[in-house]
Amino acid sequence: MTDDFKKSADNLRKAVPLMVKNNVAATPANYALWYTYVDKTIPELNQELDRVLQNYHVCPPAIHKQLYNTYVAGKTETSLEQLKSNVEVLLCEVSNSMSDTITDTSSFSKMVDKSLDKLEKVEDNALNIEDVMGVIRQFVSESQEIRHSTQFLNRQLTSASEEISRLKSQLAEVQKDALFDGLSQLYNRRAFDNDLSTLINSNQAMTLILLDIDHFKAFNDNYGHIFGDSVIKGIARRLQQSCRDGICAYRYGGEEFALIVPNKSLRIGRQYADTLRRMIEKLRVTDKRSGTQVQNITASFGVAEYQVGDTLEMLINKADKQLYEAKQLGRNRVMPV
Ligand code: GH3
Ligand code: MG
Ligand code: MG
Repeated sequence: MTDDFKKSADNLRKAVPLMVKNNVAATPANYALWYTYVDKTIPELNQELDRVLQNYHVCPPAIHKQLYNTYVAGKTETSLEQLKSNVEVLLCEVSNSMSDTITDTSSFSKMVDKSLDKLEKVEDNALNIEDVMGVIRQFVSESQEIRHSTQFLNRQLTSASEEISRLKSQLAEVQKDALFDGLSQLYNRRAFDNDLSTLINSNQAMTLILLDIDHFKAFNDNYGHIFGDSVIKGIARRLQQSCRDGICAYRYGGEEFALIVPNKSLRIGRQYADTLRRMIEKLRVTDKRSGTQVQNITASFGVAEYQVGDTLEMLINKADKQLYEAKQLGRNRVMPV
C-alpha cells in the first residue's frame, strides 16, 4: 500500500501540472487518463496522446473521451483505486468550484504542488487515508480562494470581449461604408454618388459616361456565372487602366459602369467612350471550364455633359437616355453620335 501510495503521489504530481498546462478539464475520466499517461503503463496510449499533442498542441475533449474509453476505462489497477477515487473527488470539486471562471494556471499549479508535498508527508509519516482527505479538503478550500482572483481575471476578459464585439460591429459599419467594389476592384455606386454630387455642388465642368455590357445575360447563361464575373473583371481592369487626367471609373451596378470625365466637353467625352468601346471589342476572355476563348464581348455607351443647374438625377438620366438609344440602335455603339 505504501509503495502504491508513493507511486500514486508521484504520478499525481506529474499528471496535474500537465493537465493544467494542456488546459484539460479536471474530470475523473481525464484525471485517470493523464494519470495512466504519466504512469507509462500503456505505451500505446502514450504514443497516441503524444501524437495528438504534437498535432493539436492541446488535446480536444472528443479525443480525450476516445482515448479514455480505449485505454483506461475498466482497466485501472485496483490497488490504486482507493487513493485515485479520493483524488478524483478532489479534482471534481476543484473543477466545479472553478467552472465558468478562468484558471489562473500559475497559482493553480503552485497550489497543486503544495498539496502534493503534503501528500508526500502524509506518506512519510505513515498517516492514514483520513489525513489524505485532510489534504484534499485544504486543497479544495484553497482552490476557492483562487476562484476569487480568477473572477477578477474573468471580469477583465469579459470587458475585453465586449470591447472586441464593439470593434467588430464598428468594422461592419466601416465595411458597409466602404467605397470599393470587391469583384471589379473599382469604386462602387456609393463612391460614384458621393463624387458626382461633390462635383455638381462645386459646378465642375464634366462629362458623364454610362456603359452597359451587351447581352451580358447570355454569357451567364452559356458559360456560367463565374465566367460572367471574369468578363466584369476584364472590362473593369481595362477601364481602370485607361483612367487618366482625373478620369475615374466606377462599378455602377451589376454589369454597368460609369466614368466621370472632368473638364471635358461632350465631344471629347464621346471620343474617349469610343476608344473604350473599341478596347472592349478586342477583349478575349477564356472560359476555364471548356477552354473556349470568348471574343464577342461588346458594350453600349451613353454620354452626357453636365450643364449648370443639372441635379445628380438629371445628369444621370441624360446619360441613361443615350445609353438606351445605343441599345435600341443595335448595341456596341456610343450615343449621341
Ligand atoms: P442588354 O444588352 O440589353 O444590356 O442585355 P443584358 O443581358 O446585358 O441585360 P440584362 O439586364 O437582361 O441582364 C443583365 C444580367 O447581368 C442579369 C444579371 O444576372 C447579370 N449580373 C448582374 N450582376 C452580375 C454579376 O456580378 N456577375 C454576373 N456573373 N452576372 C451579373
Ligand atoms: Mg444592365
Ligand atoms: Mg447589359
